Amino acid sequence: EKYTANKDRYEKMQYRRCGKSGILLPLLSLGLWHNFGDNDDFDNARKILRTAFDNGITHFDLANNYGPPYGSAEKNFGKIFNEDFKQYRDELLISTKAGWDMWPGPYGNFGSRKYLIASLDQSLKRMGLDYVDIFYHHRPDPDTPLEETMRALDQIVRSGKALYVGISQYSSKDTARAAEILENQGTPFLVHQPRYNMMDRWVENGLLNTLEQQGIGSIVFSPLEQGILTSKYLNGIPKDSRAATKGSYLDESQITPEVVKQVQELNKIAESRDQSLAQMAVAWLLKDERVTSVLVGVSKVSQLEDNIAALNNLKFSEAELQQIEVILTK
Ligand code: NDP
Repeated sequence: EKYTANKDRYEKMQYRRCGKSGILLPLLSLGLWHNFGDNDDFDNARKILRTAFDNGITHFDLANNYGPPYGSAEKNFGKIFNEDFKQYRDELLISTKAGWDMWPGPYGNFGSRKYLIASLDQSLKRMGLDYVDIFYHHRPDPDTPLEETMRALDQIVRSGKALYVGISQYSSKDTARAAEILENQGTPFLVHQPRYNMMDRWVENGLLNTLEQQGIGSIVFSPLEQGILTSKYLNGIPKDSRAATKGSYLDESQITPEVVKQVQELNKIAESRDQSLAQMAVAWLLKDERVTSVLVGVSKVSQLEDNIAALNNLKFSEAELQQIEVILTK
């Protein structure tokens, strides 16, 4: 049936300014790394996207190689976009990326101008879009001059294929260098996409300061540590979970007894706050204003609804924060 978005969607979400830019990002954004490939349930994928937008989630994050197979998340998103979201194009921020392996040979990976420009052209075709809102270099490439990669991003914007650019997984030092080059070129450098969650804290060691100094926002990925920071692994490994899925980036061996014990203790604090652990993990990231948006993945609509309800309680007492640190440093 034809989709009409919920009229109250913008009352349901809060938005935060992305660095020193004109763009507001929803506190929660939706990532399509998993659950949108050709082996996933298309109707489920569609329901997830509709639920997101109905709740004011205006930002969908993709990459050339999301699937599997590579490209299929963009292709499936394109189909859903065409049927459900075309009429809302100007209310949406759609991003994609290139930087990891995408096609065979020396031109389908890393950070050359050749790769980035060709890859975005492919992505636009798969999604059926004229432009993306944000185009990212997906990871640093130590062998390509940063100037070449940043120039390619600049040309992409000037050719109208992206409105803003971003980088992902760059160190604090490389981010500062990239920012300088982009600034000199006049390229709109909107956002950095780093990995950040309670259990992975590297961004606290310089990157968030660099971004604040440069006026760049951040959208943080794997905020739930791929599902570990939820109640799902408290009593074993469910069959339909990412850890039980072969070929995913979360392996059963990562759910150690020590991790489960930590998660159980974190879960108690979440319960005392009347939150699920997933909600507390989202709220914990948003306590830092330098985090513009938390980029979640979900395999079910119910998970998305759970995560959105994190916004009902974003405050932490000093005592809670200390208790959390004690658990995490055990
Ligand atoms: P999360 O840490 O949010 O993990 C998502 C997984 O956690 C879900 O698929 C689901 O797993 C589980 N989950 C989510 N919500 C709940 C809940 N409320 N209750 C129970 N389980 C839940 O993020 P991802 O690792 O998926 O990353 C999010 C997005 O970040 C990606 O889609 C992508 O857009 C981006 N990303 C970017 C990268 C980069 O290099 N720039 C790298 C990785 C991700 P299950 O399947 O077990 O149900």
